[in-house]
Amino acid sequence: MNKQLPFSLYPRLTERTDQLIQLRWGVVTGALAASFGADFLFPDSLPMPILIVIAAVITIYNGLFLLYASRLHTTTSKDPERLYMRFANVQIMVDIIALTVLLHFTAGIENPFYLFYIVYITAASILLPRVYSFLYAGFASILFSALVVAEYWQLIPHIHLAGFVSPQRYQRGLYVTVVLFALVGTLFICAHLASAIAEVLRRREKELMESNLSCEVRAGELARLNARLAELDKARSQFIRLVTHELRAPVAAIQSYLRLILDGYVPPERQMEIIQKSERRALEQLALISDLLDLARLQEKRDETEPELIDVADILHGVTDLMQARAEDKDLLFSVEVEPDLPPVRARPEHVKRLWTNLISNAIKYTEPGGIVVVSLLQNPNYVVGVVRDTGIGMMPEQMPRLFEEFYRTEEAKAMERQGTGLGLSIVKRIVESYGGRIWVESEKGKGSKFSFALPKAA
Ligand code: ADP
Repeated sequence: MNKQLPFSLYPRLTERTDQLIQLRWGVVTGALAASFGADFLFPDSLPMPILIVIAAVITIYNGLFLLYASRLHTTTSKDPERLYMRFANVQIMVDIIALTVLLHFTAGIENPFYLFYIVYITAASILLPRVYSFLYAGFASILFSALVVAEYWQLIPHIHLAGFVSPQRYQRGLYVTVVLFALVGTLFICAHLASAIAEVLRRREKELMESNLSCEVRAGELARLNARLAELDKARSQFIRLVTHELRAPVAAIQSYLRLILDGYVPPERQMEIIQKSERRALEQLALISDLLDLARLQEKRDETEPELIDVADILHGVTDLMQARAEDKDLLFSVEVEPDLPPVRARPEHVKRLWTNLISNAIKYTEPGGIVVVSLLQNPNYVVGVVRDTGIGMMPEQMPRLFEEFYRTEEAKAMERQGTGLGLSIVKRIVESYGGRIWVESEKGKGSKFSFALPKAA
C-alpha cells in the first residue's frame, strides 16, 4: 500500500503519513485511558462527557484522514509531493488545536501532557521543510500560552484535578511563567534540532535514491550493450562460417582438378582445359579475397588516403569505356546521362570508382541480351545522386531488404551468373554510408532494377 513517491525531496512521505495516522489512534486511546484513570483517581474532577466527545471528534477526523490518505496513495496528480505536504500541514495543525482543547479540559497547565506538543513539532520536522518546524513551534506556543493565560486571568474556567497537584497552581504567576518559558524554549529547541537532523537525513536519502537511480540506469545500459555484443558476436561467427565456406569451395575445386591430372585420369589433350578451369576458380578466389579485404578495411575505417574533393561525373566517365565494351559484348544498349554543373563531393576516388563499377557491372550481369542499361547522374538540394537502371531479371520485394547483406545472392542471380561473391553491394553500402550518404533499390521481378545512391555535396 505504501508506494514510494517518485523521486521526492521528502522521501517516504506516504509511509510517514500513515505513521502519523497510526500514532493518532494510539494517542486518542491513550488520552481516553488517561482521562478515565484520572477520573477514577480524582472523582468528579474532569468533565468526562466533554472528553469523550473530544476523543470521538479526534477519532472521526482520523478516520477521514485515513480515507483521504488511501486516496492520496493512488493519486495520479503530477505533483503528489505538494498534496502530501498540504495533508501533513492540515494534520499537524488540527492535532495541535485538538491537543490544546484536550489540555484545557484536563486541567490545563496542571497536566504534564502539554509536553506532547514536542511530538507534533518532531513530526513537522520530519514531514515538512524546516521553516514549518518553527512555524508549528510558534503556533503551539501561542495556543498553549493563550490557554494558560486565559485560565490565569479567569477569562475561561480552569478545571482543577483536586489532589493531583496543589490547588490554585494555575494562579501562580511565577509557576505559569516558568512552565511557559520552559515549554516554549523546549519546543523551539526541538524544532531546531529535529529539523536539522531531518534535513541531513533527507539529503542523504535523496543522494542514495539518486545513486540508486543512476545505478539502475547504468545496469540497463550495460544489459543493452551486452545484448548488442552478443548480437555482434553471433553475426561475426556467422560471417566467419560463411567466409570459410566461400573460401573453401574454389580451393577444393582446384585441388580436385589437380588430383585428376596427377592421378593420370585426364588425357594430355584435355589437361589444358582442366588447368584453365582451375585458373578461373583461382581468379574467383582472388576476387573474393580482395572483396573481403576491402570490406575489412571499410569496417575498420582504416584508410591510408584522406577524402578529397572529387567530381563524381569524371569518375563515371573514367569507367564508362570499359562498361560500354562489356555491355556491347552482351548485346545491351548502354547509355549515360549526366546533368551539367554538378558540384563536387568529398570522398576517395577509388571508392567512388568502386561504386560505379559495382552497380553498372551488376546491371550488365543481371540483364539478358537485348536489354537496356541507363546510368544517370543528377543533383538535389543536398546530394549528388547516381542512378543505374536496367531492364534485367529484377527481384521480388522480399529479396530487396537482404540485398546489402554479405554473401547474399538471389537464386535467380545465381542461376543466371555463376560468378559472384555476394559482397559487392555490402561494400558499396558501406562506402556510401561512410560519407554520410545512402543507397537504395527499387525493382520488379522480370522487369528490371533501379539502384540509386546519394552522396552529400561538399560544403
Ligand atoms: P554479386 O553480384 O557478386 O552476386 P552483389 O553484392 O553485387 O554480389 O549483389 C548481390 C545480389 O544482389 C546479386 O547476387 C543479385 O542477386 C542482386 N543484384 C544486384 N544487382 C542486381 C541487378 N541489377 N538486378 C538484379 N539483381 C541484382
